[in-house]
Amino acid sequence: MADSNVQVLFRNASVLDPERGELILDRSVLVAGDTIVEVGGADVRSQNARVIDVRGMVLMPGLIDCHVHVTAVTADLASLAEWSPAYVTARSGRVLAGMLQRGFTTVRDVAGADFGLAAAVDEGYLEGPRLIFGGKALSQTGGHGDWRSRGRTVSDTCYCCPSMGVICDGVSEVRRAAREEIRRGAQHIKLMLSGGVASPTDRVDSTQFSLEEIRAAVEEAEAAHLYVTGHAYTSAAINRGLECGVRSIEHGNLMDESSVGLFKAKAAFYVPTLATYSALAARGTAFGLPEHSHKKVFDVLDAGLHALELAHRAAVPIAYGTDLLGGMHEDQLTEFSIRSQVQKPLDIIRSATTVAAQLLKMEGKVGAVCSGSFADLLVVAGNPLEDIGILSSPEKHLRLVMARGRITSSSIN
Ligand SMILES: [Zn+2]
Repeated sequence: MADSNVQVLFRNASVLDPERGELILDRSVLVAGDTIVEVGGADVRSQNARVIDVRGMVLMPGLIDCHVHVTAVTADLASLAEWSPAYVTARSGRVLAGMLQRGFTTVRDVAGADFGLAAAVDEGYLEGPRLIFGGKALSQTGGHGDWRSRGRTVSDTCYCCPSMGVICDGVSEVRRAAREEIRRGAQHIKLMLSGGVASPTDRVDSTQFSLEEIRAAVEEAEAAHLYVTGHAYTSAAINRGLECGVRSIEHGNLMDESSVGLFKAKAAFYVPTLATYSALAARGTAFGLPEHSHKKVFDVLDAGLHALELAHRAAVPIAYGTDLLGGMHEDQLTEFSIRSQVQKPLDIIRSATTVAAQLLKMEGKVGAVCSGSFADLLVVAGNPLEDIGILSSPEKHLRLVMARGRITSSSIN
């Protein structure tokens, strides 16, 4: 946590305002501790602030990735469950640091991370983005969070194992699992509503959990003023979730028109994760993805852009997500270039700032350069509203990262 007596004053900034969709020129931005305390013109003053002149550069809110797994340090998620938790934590530290270096100052972990990892970042023991976590994902037996092969009967249910899922069947088990995550401080509940790529025994196009089970999870989350986010590929799975009150849908590659109206009617969010499928198709097996899973990637790979187009045309709120595993985390910024085949730079920037902030219920705190917001800021050389490639090549264009008021990397004198 940054000391509130420490102040930083950015001068001559072209501030990127994702809400207005433009640069506001010649701004001064004053940071005290972990908060932006004033945004104004040349009249913004401070006695003891460190002054950083960013003339000719763009100051923008730090990026938000709404679908990550920081503990997924290998793409072999079944074997991950048997690794030492200490070892996984150490390697997660490397994943987190990489995200911050790419300009992500907040990430939403949707299976794997827990209160300990979030606290370690918060207290400065690990360098990384603010970690919004949901604990383990809830999965039915044989669902996307059940990593057992067909030949294995026993499952180790010890919560401390770095497995990303918890298996629960029936309304009362789902309620208990949701309540356990909430007790541990989860900020959302993740439900596996369909099969997936990395799970060994399910089909991508299956639906998972009964309607009663989904409703039970939504009821428990809402009772704690939280929400449910659901992993789903087909419209059948998506629509069951949305009708039961699931607030955000992850992946959704195989959706058709029938889902679009439901997203709108329910004011739900869509989180595509296109970066992971191109990474898995090209390099998944090199990073531990088993062969049976690698085959499934091609069930969803090509459909992803079409789903994005459907949602975008209907103005469904779309948030930025990547879902990368193992060494493929380095592809976290390729989502920008993939989406640019369908969306304009401003749409994609909003997905990683203002829309993400709404999904996280953190509007005014993240995703904007405004007074009262956390001081999560990037300085980039070039205007990402004109060229989204500015954000996807940080080695060339990213000049400074500030997270919670602390400058974590800078090449500005
Ligand atoms: Zn995921």
